[in-house]
Amino acid sequence: MNEQTSTPLTPPERRWAWIEIDREAIRTNLKTMRKCIGPDTAILTVVKADGYGHGAVEVARVALSAGSKYLGVANVSEGIELREAGIEAPLIILSEPPASSVQALIHYDLVPAVCTTEFALALGEAASAAGVIAPYHLKVDTGMNRLGVHYSDAGDFLRSLSFHEGLELQGTFTHFATADTADSFSVQVQLERFERALETIRYMGMDPGTVHAANSAAAIRYKRSRFDMVRIGVAAYGLHPSPATRELLPLQPAMRVLARVTLIKPVPLGEGVSYGYTYRSPGGVEIATIPIGYGDGLSRMLSNKMNVLVEGHSYQQVGTISMDMCMFEVSTRPDISSVRNAQLSAERRPVEYGSEVVIVGRSGNLEITLDELAAQMGTINYDMACMFGRRLERVYCN
Ligand SMILES: *Cc1c(COP(=O)(O)O)cnc(C)c1O
Repeated sequence: MNEQTSTPLTPPERRWAWIEIDREAIRTNLKTMRKCIGPDTAILTVVKADGYGHGAVEVARVALSAGSKYLGVANVSEGIELREAGIEAPLIILSEPPASSVQALIHYDLVPAVCTTEFALALGEAASAAGVIAPYHLKVDTGMNRLGVHYSDAGDFLRSLSFHEGLELQGTFTHFATADTADSFSVQVQLERFERALETIRYMGMDPGTVHAANSAAAIRYKRSRFDMVRIGVAAYGLHPSPATRELLPLQPAMRVLARVTLIKPVPLGEGVSYGYTYRSPGGVEIATIPIGYGDGLSRMLSNKMNVLVEGHSYQQVGTISMDMCMFEVSTRPDISSVRNAQLSAERRPVEYGSEVVIVGRSGNLEITLDELAAQMGTINYDMACMFGRRLERVYCN
């Protein structure tokens, strides 16, 4: 192996499709959230699903440097990944893991959500055997009806565990079903049930520890939901959880999805392009290929329905999106409007081999957002970010 081949390549050098993550945007969003919630409420940054596709380890580091005190993940594997990367901050697993994971939880200092006696006892036994006390957060179900101890049973549940010397209640929390929707009545109902559970716990002489309920949408919209700590996921990444939060504060998307043109060629009138010929050339066009497809999160459902941007100009994606590639159409006809308004319109430079293509993000005065792609697919920006994060490699900037 000579010197040159042993030089490490960055993702855009290895492959002409990648995502760019703007660390400064994440810092700014967390500062914006801090301003919104005030100085007295702690922030837990949710980095589950590989940081919503943004890279859990890197996002965790940025979030901690921006004043987030806790991290939240969805499962034990995600917790171990952060610990193995050297992250020592308090780490909460937001749902109750399998009872068979208790040794790992203790070994890696991961704090689980608890909602069953079976799991709690397994955790307590393992902790006692190891000569430590295992902290946990009680998950209270106040109406999501997914996970948790029913709100009217929370006090009794805790009392049944209070004898256990291997367990320590470090926090009590719930999760809202409708904080991102117009249904604020249901949020109020969940809040009241949660407050009642907390009251009972205190009345029974126990300390609920750190109390938390709000996700991004609730933290922004409902002051009363903030308690001791808020759990911020999507807003940290610069995405709005709901149209309602858009008017309340500015957020900066941290993810851009990029590719480079690997081939561009004229395709004559009537020729079909890609699987199934869902598009045929109208003539006077070149077809540009980029190496990004549904295997990278660019869903096949977007075929012939989306645009891409090159140097501030928009181009229609055409043909069925395949697993690793897709195509877009570049007109070779003279642009009448730019001839007529020669001074007004920006000069359109040719798309060529190696041109940078923006699939998500800003390019000149134009922008394609995860929200737009999500709307076309009948899903939400969270889903889109996770999908793009699975195979595309990341470049961090700022
Ligand atoms: C994912 C998650 C969050 C974060 O929600 P966002 O809407 O992304 O802010 C908060 N709490 C729990 C329990 C979660 O699972």
